[in-house]
Order: sequence, then structure tokens, then C-alpha cells
Amino acid sequence: MTACLFCNIVAGKTPAQFVYQDELAVAFKDIHPKARVHLLVVPRLHVASLDDLDNTHDALMAHMIRLLPIVAREQGLANGFRTIINTGAGGGQEIAHLHLHLLGGPPLPGF
Ligand code: 5GP
Ligand code: ZN
Repeated sequence: MTACLFCNIVAGKTPAQFVYQDELAVAFKDIHPKARVHLLVVPRLHVASLDDLDNTHDALMAHMIRLLPIVAREQGLANGFRTIINTGAGGGQEIAHLHLHLLGGPPLPGF
């Protein structure tokens, strides 16, 4: 086990409810959902946050962004969804492994 919760989930060492997996990224259900559908899209590679990205991550980030509507559709979110990325303590990031929140269900309130 590493010290990183999401590395352990990606490696299958900590259980999670996966809804999507490929060679670069996975998506699983958030343990404390803030909407009817609340998923986390997570790179297999450990990158702590947006602050740690460099140009070697460009293809990975593009891949994860393009996954969002695909996974959302698979979850029945035909009318749209919300994406949130928290960065660092000031952004409310609790898990220091980059992740994209994907939320949807009944129309979400304005932000
Ligand atoms: P952050 O605040 O870092 O952007 O979001 C971390 C998210 O991870 C939170 O929404 C939290 O509910 C979720 N989370 C924390 N621990 C676990 C866990 O063990 N399993 C799953 N599936 N989600 C978790
Ligand atoms: Zn990690």
C-alpha cells in the first residue's frame, strides 16, 4: 500500500465502485456523493494536483476531459453534468491525487 488513497484504489488495493477503466484513467463513485451521480475521474499516474502538471501530461489531461461526456452518458446524464477540480488547500482539495469530479442528476443549482 502506498500513502496515496487514490493510488491504492487505482491498484485495486482499496475497494471502490468502478464505472469505467482504461489504460490511462479510471472512474469510480464518490464515497460521499453530493449529487445523484457523483463520480471521480482519476489518472492511473500519480499527479498530486493541477499545480503539478507539465507538458508531459497534456495528452493525459485531454484524455480525461474527453472521458467526461462519455462516462456521463453511460451514467444516463443525457442533459448535462458538472465538472469540478479542486486544487490545493485553498481550493478545498482533500485527496492529493488529481481527480475530476463529475456530478449530475436532477438539475443542479446555479454555481
Ligand atoms: P477533493 O476534496 O480532494 O476534491 O475530493 C475528494 C473526494 O474524494 C471527496 O468528494 C470524497 O468524498 C472522496 N473520497 C474520499 N475518500 C474516499 C474513498 O475512500 N473512496 C471514494 N470512492 N471516495 C472517497
Ligand atoms: Zn496517488
